[in-house]
Amino acid sequence: LLRCRGLRKEFAGQVVLDRLDLTVDEHRVVALIGASGSGKSTLLRCVNLLEEVDDGTIELDGEDISDPRVDADRVRRRIGMVFQAYNLFPHLSVLDNITLAPRRVHRRARAEAEAQARDLLDRVGLGAKAHAFPDGLSGGQQQRVAIVRALANSPRLMLLDEVTSALDPELVGEVLTMIRDLKADGMTMVLATHEMGFAREVADEVCFLDAGRVVESGPPEQVLGEPTQARTRQFLRRII
Ligand code: ATP
Ligand code: MG
Repeated sequence: LLRCRGLRKEFAGQVVLDRLDLTVDEHRVVALIGASGSGKSTLLRCVNLLEEVDDGTIELDGEDISDPRVDADRVRRRIGMVFQAYNLFPHLSVLDNITLAPRRVHRRARAEAEAQARDLLDRVGLGAKAHAFPDGLSGGQQQRVAIVRALANSPRLMLLDEVTSALDPELVGEVLTMIRDLKADGMTMVLATHEMGFAREVADEVCFLDAGRVVESGPPEQVLGEPTQARTRQFLRRII
């Protein structure tokens, strides 16, 4: 579904992605781990065309989306992205937050978009919050609404960047449950996380990034349990 080849990205002469390769098959969940500054967010932002790569190619469904002639909005309609925090528009209700893109970008009728949004909200237990505003929701509820909003575009691929790290510990669980359910539904996901326990549980594959390169990747038991690379062992020792 997603194939990144030889990605290179520099910020002011600093190499942030260094000939990075990543392949994600359909229905698979890939967790990106690595120290702060290793390039996880930059990689996700490049895939969603929020950053331009300096070299390399990104293929989504066989189409080279890193080609500068590609219509970025059209690509982003097929990708759902959720960030660490500040995801929702504060001046819009939950329902309007979710239906904004389907109505504007996909040109769906309001009634149809709202019916779909309500269905998604019901499924995550937030049906009663359709008319609430973001500041009337807990952090965990806001983050679940942000995920619902990304799902409302029926994406082929979800990119999740540290979606639980701004949450109080007691709110993390409800967001993780939602991601687990998405996986059970067969959603293809790439998620950056500092939570090794979650990576181990939900990911089919873990990629350890160091200085913009994939140093080691494989099943979670292997990368987290029996890493072959010294850099991976060093990283895991430091965070445990
Ligand atoms: P964290 O775990 O802290 O989220 P990360 O792995 O997501 O880290 P990135 O955010 O991808 O790391 O950052 C990689 C490097 O790129 C860092 O050195 C960062 O300072 C730099 N960087 C990221 N975005 C920009 C930008 N817009 N301008 C300049 N430098 C940037
Ligand atoms: Mg990051």
